[in-house]
Amino acid sequence: MVNLLDFDLDTLTARCEQLGEKRFRAVQLFRWIHQRGVSDFAQMSDLARSLRERLPSLARVAAPPVASEQASDDGTTKWLFDVGGGNAVETVYIPEPDRGTLCVSSQAGCAVGCRFCATGHQGFSRNLTTAEIVGQLWFAEHELRRRLGPAAGERAIDNVVMMGMGEPLQNYGALLPALRVMLDDHGYGLSRRRVTVSTSGVVPMIDRLREDCPVALAVSLHASDDALRDQLVPLNRKYPLNELLEACVRYLEAAPRDFITFEYCMLDGVNDTLEQARALVRLVRDRVACKLNLIPFNPFADSGLRRSPPERVAAFAGVLQDAGIVTTVRRTRGDDIAAACGQLAGEVRDRTRVSQRIARGTITVVPAAPARR
Ligand code: SAH
Ligand code: SF4
Repeated sequence: MVNLLDFDLDTLTARCEQLGEKRFRAVQLFRWIHQRGVSDFAQMSDLARSLRERLPSLARVAAPPVASEQASDDGTTKWLFDVGGGNAVETVYIPEPDRGTLCVSSQAGCAVGCRFCATGHQGFSRNLTTAEIVGQLWFAEHELRRRLGPAAGERAIDNVVMMGMGEPLQNYGALLPALRVMLDDHGYGLSRRRVTVSTSGVVPMIDRLREDCPVALAVSLHASDDALRDQLVPLNRKYPLNELLEACVRYLEAAPRDFITFEYCMLDGVNDTLEQARALVRLVRDRVACKLNLIPFNPFADSGLRRSPPERVAAFAGVLQDAGIVTTVRRTRGDDIAAACGQLAGEVRDRTRVSQRIARGTITVVPAAPARR
């Protein structure tokens, strides 16, 4: 029994053809599922009756079950999806005046193990399937439409960010069809600029994404030198800053936006000095067209880290802005329900001991490299 949320339109078409069905049947089916949110084949009134009757024994349409829902005072909603085997992942809906954003998870846990991230501290259990990734959007979109009742044809979610639990580019095989479903005009019809993959820097997969499905790219930088980034984002030891920035330059050739978003989590006394801001300017300016998004650290239990004070964040942003780099400070949303960046933890059966490795590590702050002219 296959889950139709696992298929992009090309794959669904191929499957329909295998069943001896015409190609346009796949389009009809796909639209019922993703545009109308229907999972009961009997309701798909324009499908040939013979197909409607065959489908229940061959296929189903199912998102992972919702284990819980929490709503924040600011309107942010967080769902916990049970993905079986003691694992659960989180999805966050963030309403804004001009748009609705869904923050989607790609893995149960994460193997990268960043020091400042609650998901990283949990370790890694497994990759989500395409159906589990798409299922988060399918459920949220149609549930929100039922609740908010937007005018017919209007969607509730027009912006998807792959910034939930997990490193999307370490689950590329499932991510790619999911992105295609999001972009497909018969699916969610999101524009490439409004689907963002955020990565800690899996260089070869940045190149693959550029070729296969260039959507907006956010890269989690967090440090302006390799010594510090090695400690904050362990993946940096494999793909250091120079290689990462080169991959960003290559990505821009195909990107739907003419900049890369660099995310930078502001950690008190670790990466937030003015000298580090100047080093960041030297690193990226004249090299990668970019915008900087500063994220004040969102604390979680046992992180051993503190958020940079607002004055320091402002001063750091000032150095970047004075250098001509467009810089924004991300407003914290949903932190009262632990739905803010880096607070998503769900439930993860760590099978990799990532969490133990992180717990042992301490951060040694090395002064940023002196200016070279
Ligand atoms: N794995 C991907 C996407 C998920 S994390 C990545 O790392 O890019 C989404 C963003 O939240 C990343 O920029 C990440 O560095 C940031 N983040 C993680 N933990 C955080 C925390 N505790 N406070 C603030 N931002 C955090
Ligand atoms: Fe994984 Fe991203 Fe968290 Fe790092 S910040 S541990 S890559 S989810």
